[in-house]
Amino acid sequence: MNRKRIVAGNWKMNKTLPEVESFLQAVDIDTNDQVEAIIAAPFPFINVMASRVKGINVAAQNCASFENGAYTGEVSVDMIKSCGATHVIIGHSERRQYFAEDDDTINAKIKLSLSRGLVPILCCGESLEQRKNGQEKAVVESQLKNGLVGLDEELLSSMIIAYEPVWAIGTGETATADQAESMHAFIRSLLPSSVGDDICILYGGSVKPGNFQELLEMENIDGGLIGGASLEAASFNALYEIAVG
Ligand code: PEP
Repeated sequence: MNRKRIVAGNWKMNKTLPEVESFLQAVDIDTNDQVEAIIAAPFPFINVMASRVKGINVAAQNCASFENGAYTGEVSVDMIKSCGATHVIIGHSERRQYFAEDDDTINAKIKLSLSRGLVPILCCGESLEQRKNGQEKAVVESQLKNGLVGLDEELLSSMIIAYEPVWAIGTGETATADQAESMHAFIRSLLPSSVGDDICILYGGSVKPGNFQELLEMENIDGGLIGGASLEAASFNALYEIAVG
Protein backbone atom coordinates (compact mmCIF):
# COMPACT_ATOMS: atom_id res chain seq x y z
CA MET A 1 0.00 0.00 0.00
CA ASN A 2 1.32 3.44 -0.80
CA ARG A 3 1.19 5.99 1.96
CA LYS A 4 -1.91 8.13 1.97
CA ARG A 5 -4.02 9.89 4.54
CA ILE A 6 -6.57 7.84 6.45
CA VAL A 7 -9.34 8.97 8.77
CA ALA A 8 -10.54 5.90 10.64
CA GLY A 9 -13.35 6.05 13.18
CA ASN A 10 -13.70 3.43 15.88
CA TRP A 11 -17.20 3.39 17.31
CA LYS A 12 -16.35 0.77 19.96
CA MET A 13 -19.51 -0.56 21.71
CA ASN A 14 -21.65 2.48 20.95
CA LYS A 15 -24.81 3.20 18.93
CA THR A 16 -28.06 1.41 18.25
CA LEU A 17 -29.47 0.83 14.77
CA PRO A 18 -31.60 4.03 14.85
CA GLU A 19 -28.49 5.97 15.91
CA VAL A 20 -26.56 4.46 13.00
CA GLU A 21 -29.37 5.58 10.69
CA SER A 22 -29.11 9.14 12.04
CA PHE A 23 -25.34 9.12 11.53
CA LEU A 24 -25.76 7.90 7.96
CA GLN A 25 -28.18 10.69 7.21
CA ALA A 26 -25.82 13.33 8.58
CA VAL A 27 -22.43 12.11 7.43
CA ASP A 28 -21.34 14.19 4.50
CA ILE A 29 -17.81 13.95 3.24
CA ASP A 30 -16.52 15.06 -0.09
CA THR A 31 -14.53 11.92 -0.86
CA ASN A 32 -11.09 12.41 -2.21
CA ASP A 33 -8.79 9.70 -3.66
CA GLN A 34 -5.94 10.87 -1.47
CA VAL A 35 -7.79 10.46 1.83
CA GLU A 36 -9.40 7.17 2.80
CA ALA A 37 -12.33 7.21 5.23
CA ILE A 38 -12.98 4.13 7.34
CA ILE A 39 -15.47 3.48 10.14
CA ALA A 40 -15.04 0.50 12.43
CA ALA A 41 -18.62 -0.35 13.33
CA PRO A 42 -19.98 -2.92 15.78
CA PHE A 43 -20.62 -6.27 14.03
CA PRO A 44 -24.43 -5.90 13.72
CA PHE A 45 -24.06 -2.68 11.70
CA ILE A 46 -21.33 -3.68 9.25
CA ASN A 47 -23.74 -4.82 6.56
CA VAL A 48 -26.02 -1.81 6.71
CA MET A 49 -23.04 0.55 6.76
CA ALA A 50 -21.29 -1.17 3.85
CA SER A 51 -24.39 -1.28 1.70
CA ARG A 52 -25.60 2.24 2.44
CA VAL A 53 -22.52 4.43 2.67
CA LYS A 54 -20.58 5.35 -0.39
CA GLY A 55 -17.04 6.59 0.04
CA ILE A 56 -16.48 5.22 3.54
CA ASN A 57 -14.89 1.81 3.98
CA VAL A 58 -16.24 -0.28 6.82
CA ALA A 59 -14.07 -2.11 9.31
CA ALA A 60 -14.81 -4.64 12.01
CA GLN A 61 -13.37 -3.95 15.46
CA ASN A 62 -12.20 -7.50 16.02
CA CYS A 63 -12.43 -10.98 14.49
CA ALA A 64 -12.09 -14.58 15.62
CA SER A 65 -8.70 -16.23 15.51
CA PHE A 66 -10.32 -19.42 14.16
CA GLU A 67 -11.68 -19.89 10.63
CA ASN A 68 -15.11 -21.24 11.57
CA GLY A 69 -16.82 -23.90 13.64
CA ALA A 70 -17.96 -24.46 17.21
CA TYR A 71 -16.89 -21.15 18.78
CA THR A 72 -20.13 -19.74 20.16
CA GLY A 73 -20.28 -15.97 20.08
CA GLU A 74 -17.29 -15.49 17.81
CA VAL A 75 -17.38 -13.73 14.44
CA SER A 76 -15.19 -15.01 11.63
CA VAL A 77 -13.25 -13.07 9.02
CA ASP A 78 -15.37 -14.70 6.30
CA MET A 79 -18.56 -13.43 7.97
CA ILE A 80 -17.10 -9.95 8.27
CA LYS A 81 -15.94 -9.91 4.67
CA SER A 82 -19.26 -11.25 3.38
CA CYS A 83 -21.04 -8.36 5.11
CA GLY A 84 -18.96 -5.87 3.14
CA ALA A 85 -16.15 -4.91 5.51
CA THR A 86 -12.77 -4.18 3.96
CA HIS A 87 -10.71 -3.71 7.14
CA VAL A 88 -10.50 -5.12 10.66
CA ILE A 89 -8.97 -3.59 13.78
CA ILE A 90 -6.78 -6.15 15.53
CA GLY A 91 -5.14 -5.92 18.93
CA HIS A 92 -6.85 -2.76 20.16
CA SER A 93 -5.64 -2.04 23.69
CA GLU A 94 -9.18 -2.59 25.02
CA ARG A 95 -9.07 -6.13 23.61
CA ARG A 96 -5.63 -6.69 25.09
CA GLN A 97 -6.68 -5.27 28.47
CA TYR A 98 -10.24 -6.54 28.99
CA PHE A 99 -10.22 -9.71 26.89
CA ALA A 100 -6.67 -10.87 27.55
CA GLU A 101 -5.64 -10.88 23.91
CA ASP A 102 -2.00 -11.75 23.56
CA ASP A 103 0.41 -11.29 20.69
CA ASP A 104 0.03 -14.92 19.52
CA THR A 105 -3.73 -14.55 19.15
CA ILE A 106 -3.25 -11.20 17.47
CA ASN A 107 -0.77 -12.75 15.05
CA ALA A 108 -3.26 -15.52 14.18
CA LYS A 109 -6.00 -12.95 13.55
CA ILE A 110 -3.74 -10.88 11.32
CA LYS A 111 -2.75 -13.91 9.24
CA LEU A 112 -6.35 -15.04 8.86
CA SER A 113 -7.50 -11.56 7.85
CA LEU A 114 -4.76 -11.16 5.28
CA SER A 115 -5.51 -14.60 3.84
CA ARG A 116 -9.06 -13.41 3.12
CA GLY A 117 -8.09 -9.99 1.76
CA LEU A 118 -9.25 -8.01 4.79
CA VAL A 119 -6.83 -5.22 5.70
CA PRO A 120 -5.75 -5.54 9.33
CA ILE A 121 -5.27 -2.35 11.34
CA LEU A 122 -2.85 -3.53 14.01
CA CYS A 123 -2.90 -1.45 17.20
CA CYS A 124 0.10 -1.08 19.45
CA GLY A 125 0.97 1.22 22.31
CA GLU A 126 2.30 1.47 25.81
CA SER A 127 0.58 2.08 29.16
CA LEU A 128 1.21 5.17 31.26
CA GLU A 129 3.39 3.20 33.65
CA GLN A 130 5.47 1.83 30.80
CA ARG A 131 5.98 5.35 29.42
CA LYS A 132 6.90 6.68 32.87
CA ASN A 133 9.51 3.92 33.08
CA GLY A 134 10.91 4.79 29.66
CA GLN A 135 9.79 1.45 28.24
CA GLU A 136 7.48 2.73 25.49
CA LYS A 137 9.72 1.82 22.57
CA ALA A 138 10.57 -1.62 23.95
CA VAL A 139 6.86 -2.35 24.47
CA VAL A 140 5.87 -1.29 20.97
CA GLU A 141 8.81 -3.16 19.46
CA SER A 142 7.79 -6.34 21.22
CA GLN A 143 4.11 -5.97 20.25
CA LEU A 144 5.09 -5.52 16.61
CA LYS A 145 7.74 -8.21 16.54
CA ASN A 146 5.45 -10.83 18.04
CA GLY A 147 2.25 -9.65 16.38
CA LEU A 148 3.83 -9.66 12.93
CA VAL A 149 5.85 -12.86 13.16
CA GLY A 150 5.87 -14.96 9.98
CA LEU A 151 4.61 -12.21 7.65
CA ASP A 152 6.62 -11.52 4.51
CA GLU A 153 7.17 -8.05 3.07
CA GLU A 154 4.26 -8.32 0.66
CA LEU A 155 1.80 -9.14 3.43
CA LEU A 156 3.24 -6.52 5.77
CA SER A 157 2.86 -3.92 3.03
CA SER A 158 -0.86 -4.49 2.82
CA MET A 159 -1.46 -3.70 6.49
CA ILE A 160 -2.09 -0.53 8.46
CA ILE A 161 -0.52 0.11 11.87
CA ALA A 162 -2.07 2.33 14.55
CA TYR A 163 0.08 3.67 17.36
CA GLU A 164 -2.24 4.25 20.31
CA PRO A 165 -0.63 5.07 23.64
CA VAL A 166 -3.03 3.54 26.15
CA TRP A 167 -2.81 6.60 28.42
CA ALA A 168 -4.20 8.77 25.63
CA ILE A 169 -7.19 6.61 24.64
CA GLY A 170 -10.49 8.07 25.75
CA THR A 171 -8.74 10.21 28.39
CA GLY A 172 -8.75 13.55 26.61
CA GLU A 173 -4.98 13.54 26.91
CA THR A 174 -3.28 13.39 23.53
CA ALA A 175 0.35 12.51 22.96
CA THR A 176 2.15 15.60 21.77
CA ALA A 177 2.77 15.69 18.06
CA ASP A 178 6.49 15.21 18.80
CA GLN A 179 5.89 12.17 21.02
CA ALA A 180 3.68 10.59 18.37
CA GLU A 181 6.09 11.46 15.54
CA SER A 182 9.01 9.95 17.38
CA MET A 183 7.17 6.66 17.88
CA HIS A 184 5.90 6.58 14.29
CA ALA A 185 9.43 7.07 12.97
CA PHE A 186 10.61 4.30 15.30
CA ILE A 187 7.87 1.94 14.04
CA ARG A 188 8.94 2.57 10.43
CA SER A 189 12.53 1.80 11.39
CA LEU A 190 11.51 -1.58 12.82
CA LEU A 191 10.03 -2.75 9.52
CA PRO A 192 11.92 -3.85 6.42
CA SER A 193 12.74 -0.58 4.63
CA SER A 194 10.51 -1.29 1.62
CA VAL A 195 7.60 -1.69 4.05
CA GLY A 196 8.55 1.07 6.48
CA ASP A 197 8.67 3.66 3.69
CA ASP A 198 5.21 2.78 2.39
CA ILE A 199 3.03 1.58 5.24
CA CYS A 200 0.32 3.85 6.66
CA ILE A 201 0.73 4.51 10.37
CA LEU A 202 -2.18 6.12 12.20
CA TYR A 203 -2.07 7.87 15.54
CA GLY A 204 -4.87 7.17 18.02
CA GLY A 205 -5.59 8.69 21.42
CA SER A 206 -8.07 11.53 21.98
CA VAL A 207 -7.80 12.84 18.43
CA LYS A 208 -10.40 15.53 17.73
CA PRO A 209 -10.89 18.28 15.18
CA GLY A 210 -8.92 20.68 17.41
CA ASN A 211 -5.68 18.66 17.45
CA PHE A 212 -5.80 16.60 14.24
CA GLN A 213 -4.11 19.15 11.98
CA GLU A 214 -1.03 19.41 14.18
CA LEU A 215 -0.63 15.63 14.24
CA LEU A 216 -1.09 15.35 10.46
CA GLU A 217 1.68 17.85 9.89
CA MET A 218 4.19 15.33 11.23
CA GLU A 219 6.19 13.54 8.56
CA ASN A 220 5.48 10.02 9.77
CA ILE A 221 1.81 10.36 10.78
CA ASP A 222 -0.58 9.32 8.02
CA GLY A 223 -3.87 9.77 9.79
CA GLY A 224 -5.88 8.96 12.86
CA LEU A 225 -7.73 6.10 14.51
CA ILE A 226 -10.40 8.04 16.30
CA GLY A 227 -12.83 6.86 18.94
CA GLY A 228 -15.01 9.43 20.71
CA ALA A 229 -14.70 12.13 18.07
CA SER A 230 -15.89 9.78 15.31
CA LEU A 231 -19.29 9.14 16.88
CA GLU A 232 -20.98 12.35 15.78
CA ALA A 233 -21.32 12.84 12.04
CA ALA A 234 -20.46 16.55 12.29
CA SER A 235 -17.20 15.75 14.01
CA PHE A 236 -16.35 12.94 11.56
CA ASN A 237 -17.10 15.31 8.67
CA ALA A 238 -14.77 17.91 10.22
CA LEU A 239 -11.96 15.39 10.77
CA TYR A 240 -12.19 14.26 7.16
CA GLU A 241 -12.12 17.85 5.91
CA ILE A 242 -9.01 18.55 7.98
CA ALA A 243 -7.29 15.50 6.47
CA VAL A 244 -8.16 16.64 2.95
CA GLY A 245 -6.54 19.98 3.84
C1 PEP B 1 -9.69 4.43 19.90
O1 PEP B 1 -10.85 4.10 19.89
O2 PEP B 1 -8.84 3.68 19.42
C2 PEP B 1 -9.32 5.73 20.45
C3 PEP B 1 -8.11 6.20 20.23
O3 PEP B 1 -10.29 6.39 21.18
P1 PEP B 1 -10.34 7.96 21.54
O4 PEP B 1 -10.13 8.69 20.23
O5 PEP B 1 -11.69 8.18 22.11
O6 PEP B 1 -9.22 8.24 22.49
